[in-house]
Amino acid sequence: MSELNREIHLINRPFGLPNENDFKLVETPIPEPTDGEILVRNIYMSVDPYMRGRMYDSESYTPPFQLDKPLYGGCVGQVLETKGGKFQQGDYVLSGLGWREYFVSNGSNLTKINPANTPIQTYLGILGMPGLAAYVGLLDIGQLGENETIFVSAASGAVGSLVCQIAKIKGCRVLGSAGSDKKVTWLLDEVGIDAAFNYKKVDNLRVEIAKHCPEGIDVYFENVGGAHLEAALGHMNVFGRIIMCGMISQYNATQPPLGPRNLALVITKRLTMEGFIVSDHNDRRQDFMIDMGKWLAADKLKWKETIVEGIENAPSAFIGLFKGENFGKMLVKIGPDPVR
Ligand code: NDP
Repeated sequence: MSELNREIHLINRPFGLPNENDFKLVETPIPEPTDGEILVRNIYMSVDPYMRGRMYDSESYTPPFQLDKPLYGGCVGQVLETKGGKFQQGDYVLSGLGWREYFVSNGSNLTKINPANTPIQTYLGILGMPGLAAYVGLLDIGQLGENETIFVSAASGAVGSLVCQIAKIKGCRVLGSAGSDKKVTWLLDEVGIDAAFNYKKVDNLRVEIAKHCPEGIDVYFENVGGAHLEAALGHMNVFGRIIMCGMISQYNATQPPLGPRNLALVITKRLTMEGFIVSDHNDRRQDFMIDMGKWLAADKLKWKETIVEGIENAPSAFIGLFKGENFGKMLVKIGPDPVR
């Protein structure tokens, strides 16, 4: 274990797909807690597509990352030392202070997590922000009803794979798209959705969707944007809903992307398109955890994780999200196994 704290700084605002030279590994002394503070050793950190938006120097729903400062993001760690406050040594905590090995905190904005039932890193995935996004996106924004037909893009990812499974639990017919045959096979054989295809092998997305959903789509869960959105619009049923969760295919665009050319179908088909940001929906966390607890206990949920080792590899793990290198939730293990 390093005697120093290592953290990742953003040193350039990326143009297009980020590269590793946009990041720098910086060593600093391990911070020391003062009265009322705790020292936390991070164990897992999350890399998420939304972080790309924070690398632009522009106002959004969260402020941009600052250059030459450590990045931020979801992580779970263990309390090593305490000088007061509500946390005990050995507690596991969820925070937004990722991309660094150690941090001190007065405990505000930290959540204690229970490692008893599921591995701690699931609080960054299926039980964390991506899980809640799937839940509120599908049930609150999309108002998914029983027996509907839903199409999910990036269907094997952290958000998409839970969307697929909640939709199946609700009795819906689910079509998913993903970027490799391996991901498609997992969706069909293990997750148990009704149909799936590898969009990289398809000439015409709309024809492919129509092949699997001859009666049309009632709900489209949008994670990707671009050609996927245009194809889904073309095959939506009247009064359908499009849940605008993410558009990862456009996050590295160097030119303003062209809109879907068939957007007027929103009018003629009387569609609803609604975007959302998961952090506006923390009031739903308790319901989410109750439902997830039930589904997990009933063995109804499957999930995948890709775990990259070492904080020095966090930038490449992040960049890998835009190349489909993750299978399920992309995580970086940046600390030793939990001390029990
Ligand atoms: P994933 O685990 O799904 O990882 C990203 C995946 O996107 C990749 O594995 C890849 O899968 C796919 N992808 C990458 N580039 C492209 C591309 N150019 N075209 C098509 N697919 C691509 O990430 P998350 O589950 O964390 O996030 C999924 C989406 O949800 C993102 O758009 C994200 O921004 C959004 N999101 C929105 C939230 C909100 O509050 N609105 C909260 C959380 C996430 P493949 O191999 O299948 O191509």
